[in-house]
Amino acid sequence: MSDFVMSIGGSTADAEATFGVINPATGEVFAQAPECSRSQLDAAFDSAQRAFDAWRDDEDQRRKALLVMADVLMGSIGELAPLLTSEQGKPLADAQFEVFAAGMWCQYFANLETPAQTIQDDQDAFVQVVRRPLGVVAAITPWNFPLILAFWKIAPALLAGNTLVIKPSPFTPLTTLKAVELLQDTVPAGVLSAVSGGDDLGAWMTSHPAPRKVSFTGSIETGKKVALAAAPDLKRVTLELGGNDPAIVLDDADPALVARAIFAGAFNNNGQVCSAIKRVYVPASIHDEVVDALAAHARATKVGDGTEPDSKLGPINNAPQYERVKELVADAISGGATAVTGGSAMDRPGYFFEPTILTGLTDATRIVAEEQFGPALPVLAYTSLDDAIERANATHFGLSGSVWSADPDRAAAVAAKLECGTAWINTHLALGPAQPFGGAKWSGIGVENGPWGLSEFTEVQAVYRSRTADDLNIGIAGLVS
Ligand code: NAD
Repeated sequence: MSDFVMSIGGSTADAEATFGVINPATGEVFAQAPECSRSQLDAAFDSAQRAFDAWRDDEDQRRKALLVMADVLMGSIGELAPLLTSEQGKPLADAQFEVFAAGMWCQYFANLETPAQTIQDDQDAFVQVVRRPLGVVAAITPWNFPLILAFWKIAPALLAGNTLVIKPSPFTPLTTLKAVELLQDTVPAGVLSAVSGGDDLGAWMTSHPAPRKVSFTGSIETGKKVALAAAPDLKRVTLELGGNDPAIVLDDADPALVARAIFAGAFNNNGQVCSAIKRVYVPASIHDEVVDALAAHARATKVGDGTEPDSKLGPINNAPQYERVKELVADAISGGATAVTGGSAMDRPGYFFEPTILTGLTDATRIVAEEQFGPALPVLAYTSLDDAIERANATHFGLSGSVWSADPDRAAAVAAKLECGTAWINTHLALGPAQPFGGAKWSGIGVENGPWGLSEFTEVQAVYRSRTADDLNIGIAGLVS
């Protein structure tokens, strides 16, 4: 028996097999999650397919349902947030905010207008461009923000009239399973299902014939597999993938001021944010001051179990990621880098790692060139701004980036040269439901959020209503005859 249930076709579903979910603050399994079988996945997609026709036809019902979903989520913070902390590791206050934000996203999409665009309205024709739902959506999410990233998909997909089956990461399945279970009464059976399992389950979903769209958030490596699996039957894909965000500090920036904000932008969620700052380029003239200030913030940050009220950072989420961060930091140090502060795992159970500031690296050092996705930040000096911009862009990653200066216009001119989906000026990680978010280059295909994200769950349809009696069969032929 698992401790949590899947929601399939409006009913709860246990599974014959289960897998353990680890609390990263202890390294111990604390709950069993259901392992979805192939026939259960078929059942989830079948029910989604059956629910689609009625759901697509009732926009009013969809908007109302999303508002109720927001209420249920916000009213369940007390139940969902501690669960999120237990499986993900983040401090309880951050978990509470994540559940709240999931509700906010539902509210935003419930109220987002999607008017048809009229492109011709004359004696010949009335022509409109409308958006139609795609059908069944397969949604696959990672472990860093399991709940909010789920609702970046669920809210727009359902508003657009699709039905959806979600699979959370095997490291963090529980909050998503519980949230979808709590939401079952808010939508007709089959509109929203949740299944859990390992990576194989994700692969079954992407190659399954039912979904017409795969909305995926995760690593670049897996994103490429998803694109391949979706190709044979031309499923639509949105891929929100990894990042290696540069922050470029200009020479007029106040070192103390930028260090505070850059620290927050790099270490939020223990660095496990796709668009966290993952490398900092600082003019040689203020390099040491910025590094000292960053290190002071790192030393002052309380790392601990997310259930302890004074913990500002929790553990790394899972053992493979913990090993990866240890490996990347050790590689940098053995290559000549200095850990100005931190540099080691913490001597306690669980996957705790000291907040680490690294200097003395090159762009080729693995922790600079690769996505570390953890609490270790490399700082690199530069002497030519053009050179810094070139180095920032010299990568396959292109998720986001930021530029920091006392002169926002000067920073904006530099930001315009960054090859990425979001360019921030004097801030980082500023996101909202109305703002499109997605990656350039290998950081993704498509965007989420705002009307742009909504449209990714739709197909464009041109509706041409003729107003003349004599052009029944002409179309474009009539124009050329
Ligand atoms: P991951 O790619 O290992 O796993 C993500 C999800 O994909 C999980 O649910 C996993 O079970 C599933 N999966 C694995 N193999 C699959 C396959 N072959 N087919 C289908 N699904 C499969 O990523 P992760 O380690 O969970 O997450 C960390 C990565 O996610 C980082 O690279 C991070 O930058 C990225 N991320 C991106 C965004 C964004 O919006 N761009 C947001 C958060 C995280």
